[in-house]
Amino acid sequence: MNTHLIKGWMITIIFTFGLFTLAFAQKPNITILATGGTIAGVGQAGSTDTRYTAGKLPIDQLLNAVPDIHKIANIKGEQIAQIGSQAMNDQVWLKLAARINELLSRKDVDGIVVTHGTDTQEETAYFLNLTVKSSKPVVIVGAMRSSTAISADGPKNLYDAVAIAADPKSAGRGVLQAMNDRIYSARDVTKINTTGVEAFQSANFGPLGLIFNGKPAYYHAITRKHTITSDLSTDKLDKLPKVDIVYGYANMTATAIDAFVNSGSKGIIMAGVGNGNLYPEAEEALKRAVAKGVVVVRSSRVFSGRTTTDSEVDDKALGFVASDDLNPQKARVLLQLVLLKTTNRDKIQQYFFEY
Ligand code: ASP
Repeated sequence: MNTHLIKGWMITIIFTFGLFTLAFAQKPNITILATGGTIAGVGQAGSTDTRYTAGKLPIDQLLNAVPDIHKIANIKGEQIAQIGSQAMNDQVWLKLAARINELLSRKDVDGIVVTHGTDTQEETAYFLNLTVKSSKPVVIVGAMRSSTAISADGPKNLYDAVAIAADPKSAGRGVLQAMNDRIYSARDVTKINTTGVEAFQSANFGPLGLIFNGKPAYYHAITRKHTITSDLSTDKLDKLPKVDIVYGYANMTATAIDAFVNSGSKGIIMAGVGNGNLYPEAEEALKRAVAKGVVVVRSSRVFSGRTTTDSEVDDKALGFVASDDLNPQKARVLLQLVLLKTTNRDKIQQYFFEY
């Protein structure tokens, strides 16, 4: 064959390969860790019916619905679990935190997206916010409509989550939660609607930013400790302390509190009324719990505001801790992690002020 022709072909191949490598190298490397949820849910195709089975679609099929995602990042997917997030548990949390820490310690991973059901998404988000030891972006995302529903929100939410994780502006902000064009801090976000697409809010502080034209725009920053400033860790653990939540109401009995104490709870979160206030029988039962070494944290069943210390309840005298503005389910996550370090009441109170 003509040597000129061979040379020409070789140059073309090397040039094309070089261009391809350059394009690949310039895009950030994002790993998607899938856990299930409605974003991977399957129901009747094209249906308006809100019934479906969560956690059915594997990660590859989720990605097929968003081909443009490959234009903004080099994507790898891993299936960590395939459950509705109502079945989320400590084991999946520990596995997720360990895998994220392992991946983010590598130079060739720039960010993580976790796909997750929305029911307990805020808890997993806050757990990771406290236990991931990296300032690279970690974004948790889900959907309110299943993958087969009319106007499914999952594909857009997933695209946005990858865009957030791929953007250097997202680094150092703790774990982020993103759905429906909003970006929230894992610490502040909570689910506020059972079925609507605008299902998340931060009652006290609003979103950190927005997704605008496919890119994140930030307006606020989180000041509480998270990720690399958090001294909480689950390294090498295979279980977490048992902490339970009790819901307050008029005419409350002590039954649930006593039962949790007798079942071995190390901590009880009281979702009190108003400013974390307690029905007298409940207060007595919680005093008995403290006397047995159980840590009691007063949160509130009220959607917004802080649960303040030594207000109508004398926390110092009773040995209780106030949850600041953490809702009961977030207070539970923090207490589970703090109990790995201390059972000292004052130190635990300090954690609630700082995290
Ligand atoms: N039950 C579902 C879950 O949390 C709901 C959802 O994902 O929106 O997995």
